[in-house]
Order: sequence, then structure tokens, then C-alpha cells
Amino acid sequence: MNANPSKDAAAATAPEQPTSPSNFIRDIIVSDLESGKYAGQVHTRFPPEPNGYLHLGHAKSICLNFGLAAEFGGLTNLRFDDTNPEKEEQEYVDSIIRDVRWLGFDWETRLFYASDYFQQLHDWAVQLITAGKAYVDDLTAEEIRKGRGTLTSPGVESPYRNRSVEENLGLFERMRAGEFPDGSRTLRAKIDMASPNLNLRDPVMYRILHADHHRTGSKWCIYPLYDFAHGQSDSIEKVTHSICTLEFEDHRPLYNWFVEQLGIFHPRQIEFDRLSLTYTVLSKRKLLTLVNDGHVQGWDDPRMPTLSGVRRRGYTPEALRNFCAAIGVSKTNGTIELAMLEHYLREDLNKRASRVMAVLRPLKLVIDNYPEDKVEQMEAVNNPEDGAAGTRTVPFSRVLYIEQDDFREDPPKQFYRLSPGREVRLRYGYLVTCTRVVKDASGNVIEVHCTYDPATRGGNTPDGRKVKSTIHWVSAAHAVNGEVRLYENLFATEDPNSVEEGKDFTANLNPNSLEVVSSCKLEPSLAQAGVGARYQFERLGYFCVDPDSKPGAPVFNRTVPLRDTWAKIEKRVNTEVTKENMRSPRKQAQ
Ligand code: ATP
Ligand code: MG
Repeated sequence: MNANPSKDAAAATAPEQPTSPSNFIRDIIVSDLESGKYAGQVHTRFPPEPNGYLHLGHAKSICLNFGLAAEFGGLTNLRFDDTNPEKEEQEYVDSIIRDVRWLGFDWETRLFYASDYFQQLHDWAVQLITAGKAYVDDLTAEEIRKGRGTLTSPGVESPYRNRSVEENLGLFERMRAGEFPDGSRTLRAKIDMASPNLNLRDPVMYRILHADHHRTGSKWCIYPLYDFAHGQSDSIEKVTHSICTLEFEDHRPLYNWFVEQLGIFHPRQIEFDRLSLTYTVLSKRKLLTLVNDGHVQGWDDPRMPTLSGVRRRGYTPEALRNFCAAIGVSKTNGTIELAMLEHYLREDLNKRASRVMAVLRPLKLVIDNYPEDKVEQMEAVNNPEDGAAGTRTVPFSRVLYIEQDDFREDPPKQFYRLSPGREVRLRYGYLVTCTRVVKDASGNVIEVHCTYDPATRGGNTPDGRKVKSTIHWVSAAHAVNGEVRLYENLFATEDPNSVEEGKDFTANLNPNSLEVVSSCKLEPSLAQAGVGARYQFERLGYFCVDPDSKPGAPVFNRTVPLRDTWAKIEKRVNTEVTKENMRSPRKQAQ
């Protein structure tokens, strides 16, 4: 997406960013710009490993990387960190490209792969061996782990550490040529086995792996590890600010060591807090388990926190970008309330979703004094938040469907909807008064009868009389049958990662996360609803058309119900703050 092609062609393109308070990363960039450290350049990258689908955590990183670069007229690359052939697949590459685009960001021509740099990385490894800074080790992975020491005790030097440069060059060449089996040797950096930072205790740079790579095929049988690939890839791409999550903080000295030893362009690594959300897991490994073990119907199951899942559920890219701007970044990991994400979702959907009427659990309502064959087209407002959205007509007739929940034969106190003798407003229709009910053999109400007041067309009350409730409805003869899928949180516990001994996170799955309601009655305008279209079903929530829809038989996902718990929390906090402010002067006066 290039919103303005005539603008400086070099500038990264990102949708207009929601304003967010400044943060430490922006401050670092500003100070680097002021000191001229990178000659006025800001260049970031988003570096996913193509071993799964992107999730909401990645959205935070994407918004941050693309957003910051765009703010300073800089560039952002999309780079696949594809150094582990065993777990990576083209399907993931394709999905990641789709998802970053959907979120609204554009890397223009700067799509890169770490595998593009395998030859250069190999040559740099040879350079370090030649400089006496790397050696081939014959220890197994297990032996290396044991020799690494602990936080309180130093590591042990490998017996192969002091091989000559010639021997190391020869062995590394033979590793590359495929002479040795998997795991039999590694290339290690020669740094310091007594370093207080475990990452500097001769970390492994290359391992032998006879596995086909999704892009380089069988060309390579040695693969660089993350630590040897990432910083050098950043350097090759002239990334100035390499923004990553906090778990890489202890890797930063190693990141710096490699680029310094190689004498190449030196990007600056900056760490921020990972997004974690209540009732949600954000780890590709765990999400893969959910998919592989059939707990969900795929990566794009609308209950999944993947970008493809939330897209199918009906989330908008704008809502995600606003949320990411609102949470900001920090230097300590914490957990964000899922309700806050849903608040930003509702705020956005409220502006853009057309209102329609749909009855999920239908109950027949017969208006006895309405003519049998009469049909009136009632005018309904499409979106009260958007004047340009206009109006549509909804057919009204003698037999309607209303929500089972909107009728009680024996209403409790506080129940103001329809009940015998009570008058309610049918939205955009008429005022009706319930006269009697029809029951089946087991005593269930299967039909509600009522009379209407012809003077109340459109739901108006010319005499100014009050009714306590307005309910939605759909004309039975005109209704479109549809399926609606209602979702609850995928996990029943706030922290799905916390489990009892002997259990895993799937023990926390919510058995009621999906409810399929199959015989819903929808207003006729929904017969034409296209896949992905978003609506507000009046009084029920926001819904989005699922790809499983067939012509004339739409399937809807409930994106989110209407009730906004986060707004309530915020309001309470604000009122408490206000009360506190009002109280304090008095306190001072005392
Ligand atoms: P996971 O733990 O889910 O497998 P990862 O960090 O291994 O995630 P990558 O594909 O390596 O996944 O991530 C690409 C980028 O997205 C990295 O810069 C990473 O730091 C960032 N990222 C991943 N998860 C989160 C998260 N929860 N919050 C913020 N950024 C994240
Ligand atoms: Mg990773």
C-alpha cells in the first residue's frame, strides 16, 4: 500500500499511526538522529521465523517497527528469519506476507530472507576462524551444555578449543561438504568460558543438519544459529535500530561481539516487553499444539489469537493498530487485559459496522389485528454513528420472529421486555401489546400473540406514552435463515500458562468456547452479505460473515458482544480519580 506515491519514494509506507505517548525506543531514535549516529537514517525490520502463523504479539512488533520508521521518514524491511529448515514452511511464509499486508503495512521491495545470506554468513565464519575467533568442536550438544557451567560457576573449555586455524578451516570446510553426520561437530565462537553472561561462553555458531531448506533445498547441510544470523542480517540490510523482545537482552553482548569482530555496520539492538494477554496464549509452539491436536479447526479458527483467526472473527486492522498504540512499550513484561483489546475493537466497529436486525433464537410473534397479506417497508438507520451510511428498508408483516429471551410469561422484577399485557416497541416497527400465548404439549411457549397500535408507525408514540423496552424482530415470511457461531474465550482461566503439576496448558481450555446456533432468522438485506462483511446485530453484538457461507445461507461469527467491560473499568478508575481530586483540597484544608 502506497498511499501517496508522489511522496518521498524512500519513505516507509504505513497507514496513519494513531498517536501514542512517547516511549524509550522513540527517545533513543531521536537522540541517535540528533547525534547523527546513523547519518539521519532510521531503518527497522520485522523478522518473523516462518514456523507458524503470526499472532497478536507479532502485531505489536509490526506496528512498532513500521510505525517508528514511518514516523521518522525511514524504512522497514520484512525479513524471514529462516535458519531452521526443520520447522519452516512456505505455507507460513505466505500467511505472514498476507497478515502483515492486512494489518496495513508495506515493505515495498524490501522482502528479505536470512537464507539469502547463507553464503555471506559462511564466509564471515571463515573470517572468524582465520582470525582465531572460532573453532570446530567435536563435543556433542549434550556435552557442550554440560560444559557451559551455571550462573554461579564458570564453564569448562572444550578439549578442541585450541585447534590450529588450519585444522579448523579444514574441518569447517568438510562440515560444509557434508562429510559428517548431524550433530557430530559444531562451529563455536571463541570468546570466554568464564564470562558471567552464559551467551558469551563460546556459543555455537553453526550446526550440521542434513535437512532440505524451504528455499535453498539441499545446498546446505550446515545452518547458522539465530545468534550468528540475526545481527549479521541486520547489518547487511543496514538496519539501524534492531527492535526485539526482552528475552534477547542477554544476547545483546553477543550480537555486538559478532558485528564488532567482523568490523561490519553496527546496528543497535533495543529490547521491549512481549505482549501477553489474559485468557490467551501467544506462543507459536502452543498455538501449533492447538492446531495439530485438533483443539481448534486450524490456524484461522476465529477463537485463535492469530492474525488470520481474528481477521476471520471480524477484527479490523484499525482496531489492532489503535490497541497497539495504546499499550505502548516498556522494559518490563506484564499482562494486558483482553477486555482492553475488545474495547478498541468495539470502538472501531461502532464507527464502521452497519446495524441490522437478526434473531438468534426465534420465537413467533403474531399480530392478530394486522392484515394477513399486508407488508410495509419500514425505514431503518444503517449507522447512527455515520451519517453517510444512510438508511434501508426492512419488511414488516403480521408474523414476525422475536428473540426467545425477549419474552417471559411470568416476568421477574426488572424484566421490562414483552410479557402478557405489556406493551413494547418493535424497533422501526410499531408498539405491540401481548394478549395471549400458545404452548406446545410440554408447556413451552411456541407463539406469542399481540395487537399493534397503527398510530405508532416507525415506533413513534404521538401521544407521548412511554414504553420501557424496544426489541428487535424479523418478518417471518422474509427472513433469511443463517447460522451464527458464538464464541467465548478459548481459555477458561486468566493465565492459561499456569497449570497444575503433570498437566499442560490445554487443561485450561474453555469447553464452551464455541456454540453454533443454526436456525437464526436474519433480515433480508443479509442474504447478499459478502464474506468478511461486518455488522452490528442490534442489541446483540458485532458479527462478521464467515467464508463457510453459501449463497442464501450466510454463516456469521460473533466478533464481540456489545457490553464493554473495559470502558466500565476505565470509567470507574476515572471517577475514583476525580473523587480523589475533589477530596484532596478538603483534606489539605483540614
Ligand atoms: P513465539 O514465542 O510466539 O514463537 P517468536 O519470538 O519466536 O514468538 P518470531 O517469529 O521469532 O517469533 O518473532 C518475530 C518478531 O516478533 C520478533 O522480533 C519477536 O520479538 C516479535 N514477537 C514475537 N512474539 C511477540 C509478543 N508476544 N509481543 C511482542 N513481540 C513479539
Ligand atoms: Mg523465534
